[in-house]
Amino acid sequence: MTNKDQLQNYINGEWRRSGSGKSLNVTNPANAELLTQVPLSPGDEVEQAARAAAAAAREWRSVPVTERVQYLFKLKNLLEADLKEMARTITNECGKTYAESLGELRRGIENVEVACGAPILMQGYNNEDIARGIDEHMFRQPLGVVAAITPFNFPGMIPLWFLPYAIAFGNCFILKPSEKVPMTSARLFELLDQTGLPPGVVQLVHGAKETVDALLDHPAVRAISFVGSTPVAKYVYSRATASGKRAQCQGGAKNAILILPDADMQMTATVTAESAFGCAGQRCLAASVAITVGEARRSFTEAIAEAAASRQVGCGLDAGVEMGPVITAESKARIEGLIERGRRQGAKVLVDGRGKQVKGYEQGNFLFPTVLQNVEPGGEIARTEIFGPVLSMMHAESIEQAIEMVNSSRYGNMACLFTSSGAAARKFRHQVAAGNVGINVGVAAPMAFFPFSGWKESFFGDLHGQGRHAAEFYTETKVVVERWPS
Ligand code: NAD
Repeated sequence: MTNKDQLQNYINGEWRRSGSGKSLNVTNPANAELLTQVPLSPGDEVEQAARAAAAAAREWRSVPVTERVQYLFKLKNLLEADLKEMARTITNECGKTYAESLGELRRGIENVEVACGAPILMQGYNNEDIARGIDEHMFRQPLGVVAAITPFNFPGMIPLWFLPYAIAFGNCFILKPSEKVPMTSARLFELLDQTGLPPGVVQLVHGAKETVDALLDHPAVRAISFVGSTPVAKYVYSRATASGKRAQCQGGAKNAILILPDADMQMTATVTAESAFGCAGQRCLAASVAITVGEARRSFTEAIAEAAASRQVGCGLDAGVEMGPVITAESKARIEGLIERGRRQGAKVLVDGRGKQVKGYEQGNFLFPTVLQNVEPGGEIARTEIFGPVLSMMHAESIEQAIEMVNSSRYGNMACLFTSSGAAARKFRHQVAAGNVGINVGVAAPMAFFPFSGWKESFFGDLHGQGRHAAEFYTETKVVVERWPS
């Protein structure tokens, strides 16, 4: 599937070289080494993929679900066997630490496992005698061809939020992975190839905007799953739904953590540092804002400053490293620019991660953990998704005021509370306007059998990814009213 120069697409059960002539370099964010090139596939290659998927879908929907999931059992075993190699690939192209890469693959594999429950997940329901001698049944049937467009920050996990469910429920699938991290998907498709799936059930088409647009406009593609930044999520949602498709589009985030004075401060600082700086802050569930309430300010500030300053930064494959680089040099410059703007707007740079190098990796996109204090609520830094290892601190006098600050955000991906009070926790989870909520937890990532529940501008659509929502999203209901006169 790869040679050192260029990745290939996987269409109708075979690897095909893109004829586009346009490609991008894929580089290692830790040392700028050229890893491979990714083609920018044009519309006619999306057309080939959609045609192959549509042809395969006619047969695949009739393969018994118990047989369809056998391919996923094989995929699970292949992923387990390839775990270490795949984790190295993720670290090489994405920059996160090897342990973080293993962690995201684990979460991806959990989705394969949950999708193996498709025989139950896609069951319908029925009633006998809705009128005398008449029965009514609801069946779930696959949509046909569905596609997913994924971001750079979880190259192993996010394609697996969608692919296993889509095919288990009888659909054929097209993946357009991030052009920044295409190698992990290429490896995933090598493994899918080894499962013996019939040709056309899964397709991989590399590319960027032009490739996405061709998927959004293609009449055979019935549903789009998207994960990425909010402006693109909005765009994908409008264009996909305008052409009558189902769409579930997960967008950006600005997640807040509230710290009450009765929290276990050492644990809170450790967990918050992991949330804010893990994966170099490039997680849609990263803590971006910490709001201390009342007396919590002093003790939390000291503890988080220490946790930030002591975090080991370096190449994700090296022993002892706790945080890798950010994805690109442009990303690093953008984040540094935001830190500087925050400073000019009155924030204090309590821990400054700028201007530091990692020995032996001078070409890497390294930015060390940064903590901004006294960030203005409602100001630019409080509102903007930074998507880097920067924690902005704000202060509130009461939990009510802090919840209001959280709820004023245009995003609603995650909000967390640290406390030892059950009453405060109950108030928080009831009132906070976010779809994924953590209580004494810093990354409230839903397991594969719960929906990934972003709200507000963190999500456009109705049905989220994973679990039972995936069964709803990837099937349509057919109701049959039946009478058999005797
Ligand atoms: P991105 O929006 O730049 O790219 C995501 C995908 O969209 C890629 O496949 C890319 O090729 C494609 N794309 C980019 N611009 C496009 C355009 N103009 N038209 C059509 N397609 C386009 O996102 P990214 O930088 O890869 O990922 C980071 C973002 O993803 C952050 O905002 C993060 O919060 C978000 N994210 C959200 C979740 C979630 O669950 N809500 C999870 C992971 C990441």
